Amino acid sequence: MNWLTNKVLPKIRKLTTIKDTPDNLWIKCPSCGQMLFHNDLATNLNVCNHCEHHMRIGPKERLSQLFDDSKYNVIELPDVQVDPLKFRDSKKYTDRLKDARNKTGDKDAMIVAHGKLGGNSAVIGVQNFSFMGGSLGMAVGEAIVAASKLAILQKAPLILLTAAGGARMQEGILSLMQMPRTTVAVQRLKEAKLPFIVVLTDPTTGGVTASYAMLGDIQISEPGALICFAGPRVIEETIREILPEGFQRAEFLLEKGMLDMVVHRQELKGTLSRIIDLIANKKRTEQDTAIEESAIDTPAVLDKKGDESEPESTGTE
Ligand SMILES: [Zn+2]
Repeated sequence: MNWLTNKVLPKIRKLTTIKDTPDNLWIKCPSCGQMLFHNDLATNLNVCNHCEHHMRIGPKERLSQLFDDSKYNVIELPDVQVDPLKFRDSKKYTDRLKDARNKTGDKDAMIVAHGKLGGNSAVIGVQNFSFMGGSLGMAVGEAIVAASKLAILQKAPLILLTAAGGARMQEGILSLMQMPRTTVAVQRLKEAKLPFIVVLTDPTTGGVTASYAMLGDIQISEPGALICFAGPRVIEETIREILPEGFQRAEFLLEKGMLDMVVHRQELKGTLSRIIDLIANKKRTEQDTAIEESAIDTPAVLDKKGDESEPESTGTE
């Protein structure tokens, strides 16, 4: 009997029992608590269709949502020195890094890619909150510098989608140094007269909010995103006052003039593409005007060449 109950029976049970539904088939909305079917959620770009809560998404998903036909090229980012401070809290920093790399399959918390957005070239950087809270360390700093250089090289706008818990404390002062570094990278873009568009996603906090995340020519946010330097809990404990409803959320900041728009994820690509198109077209018109003006400046040359060249140089559509 023992042999039957201990060995045979479990094997038969294993064969006959229907496997439980996989855990990832249904996802509970963290905002309204509704159970959402995985496929429905994916088609809705990971936005709850009951309460419109925008869930956090990874860089790959984000890039394929934004680039035309989900086609883009991820650029190789420069390597940085690993764990220069030999930092250890409850765990070694190198172990934390290893875990985050295994979990996400990425080298660090930012991915930079280029491709077409609405037919125009664009460089997009996405910060990954799942990688050590998206923290700004040397690698992310390096990624932003590289993204800015690429945008200048391609004469394309730079779009950064931010998500971070702040600076990477395990890198100490070296992580804080990334704040001025990224600010300079943004400044270079501005000197090259290229647009820098920031899309703040949930959550963007700390040193990231205190540097590149707030320097965009156009500041966009996803609905409900937490955007702050110090979080609401810290402020509440410090000032010992109850904060107003929706404090530090995207809509609150829009009302206070800190943001230009709050855009639903479904409309993000359309909005970005429209902005880039407007800016690119403006540049085109400026070039046309310059050509027209140079044509007016040198009428003698035109006269000599004859009338044929005139319609081309003065014609506008
Ligand atoms: Zn919901």
